[in-house]
Amino acid sequence: MSAAPNRMHRPDAELVDLVFDYMRERLQYDPVPLDHPGDGEHLRTHLAGLLNEHGNNPADVLKLYDHELSRAVISADSPRYLSFIPCAPTKAALLFDMVVSCASLQGISWLEAAGAIAAENQVLRLIADRAGLPESAGGTFVSGGSAGNLSALVVARDTARRKLGVGPEARLRVAVADQVHSSVKNTFNIIGVEAFKVPTVDRRFTGEALRAALAADPNPETVIAVVGTAGTTNEGIIDDLQGLSEVTRERGMWFHVDGAYGGAGLFAPSVRERYNGIEHADSFVVDPHKWLFAPFDCAALLYRNPQLARSVHTQDASYLDVLHTEGDEWNPTDYAYHLTRRARGLPLWFSIAVHGTQAYTDAIEEGLTLARETAQLIEETEHLELLMDPQLSAVCFRRTGWTNDDYYRWSQQLLADQIGFVTPTGWEGETVARFAFLHPGTTMDMVREILATMA
Ligand SMILES: *Cc1c(COP(=O)(O)O)cnc(C)c1O
Repeated sequence: MSAAPNRMHRPDAELVDLVFDYMRERLQYDPVPLDHPGDGEHLRTHLAGLLNEHGNNPADVLKLYDHELSRAVISADSPRYLSFIPCAPTKAALLFDMVVSCASLQGISWLEAAGAIAAENQVLRLIADRAGLPESAGGTFVSGGSAGNLSALVVARDTARRKLGVGPEARLRVAVADQVHSSVKNTFNIIGVEAFKVPTVDRRFTGEALRAALAADPNPETVIAVVGTAGTTNEGIIDDLQGLSEVTRERGMWFHVDGAYGGAGLFAPSVRERYNGIEHADSFVVDPHKWLFAPFDCAALLYRNPQLARSVHTQDASYLDVLHTEGDEWNPTDYAYHLTRRARGLPLWFSIAVHGTQAYTDAIEEGLTLARETAQLIEETEHLELLMDPQLSAVCFRRTGWTNDDYYRWSQQLLADQIGFVTPTGWEGETVARFAFLHPGTTMDMVREILATMA
């Protein structure tokens, strides 16, 4: 006797139309409005009683989402969102993200999901080629740069332990510069390694400084890895990857490159040269949900020698034995600390397949051009001071005479007026202003409008 499916699982044309109509509208916003910070009390009032025993009318719930909740989320895909790192997913990528969801597309093992994994790996190969990594390179898509950095540095740590013949009690260190991303510092806490801090030269982490710091240290053999950043988040500075890679190769250290934000610059001829040396990376992370125009949450993690990652990350559980047969099948779960994962590389795959790589190159170059033109405008403006020539698409600058409070008041007013979302940042202990460009819809007119409010 077969029971009728639970009512939640029956096809429901009305619900499909309701939600698709909303999505159709959201996809056509032009431009996407910035929206506002939330008020906890207001949100709690609207949410009260919603999760009850009997459910609610779907149209009412969707309306609550549209009118109250979604307006209290600052739109990261607005062309006026210029804080932190914005996002600007292509329409093709956004649409395919819905396909991944509605088809419950997973990317756990080759046995279960070969089709999805083959497509994801095609994108990973494309990125590996841009970085100049060897044919052997491979990896997986994880949720973000933080997950990528953590997964890669666990492999670095365990590879070093094996090589040195030491256990978890041994003190191990990883060389970093001050500007390294906070997720790397978090990783150190999680995996029990220490930072070996190297001073920067003109805010860049250089091979020469690393060599000097190691030479001055009594136990350089405990420094087992180096993290270079290919585009610091605050300022877009690309470390001396060539110099760092020379030192790591001389000393047999692991070389990890964090390109979560800036890695996309590998696709931009005007800056590609700055990444030289990246081809020697043992592991490399780039977030397509930042500057490769994929939706959240999508980070590409690549290893030069994926076997090393596999030996560290493969989960050992008897119910998983069937996944680990002989052969060349690729199980993405084996290359990071996760198990179940959605096939989050597919939206990017679909979008690149549809638009071609040149469209990506052009869109990334637009962000770079915007940064250069903005820098020039700042230099020409009396009361503004450019703090450094932009290397990528982040621009840090000072409003002469402003205090910390001035910047914060100005930032809040800009958002209240829906002119821009531009948050202050720190620069050598001082509060300053910063733009992060990457949305191809951001225009110089928008930049002028924002800068005019600083007069
Ligand atoms: C954004 C960023 C990260 C963290 O990535 P998430 O996707 O937010 O986890 C790490 N490193 C750098 C350089 C970043 O810009």
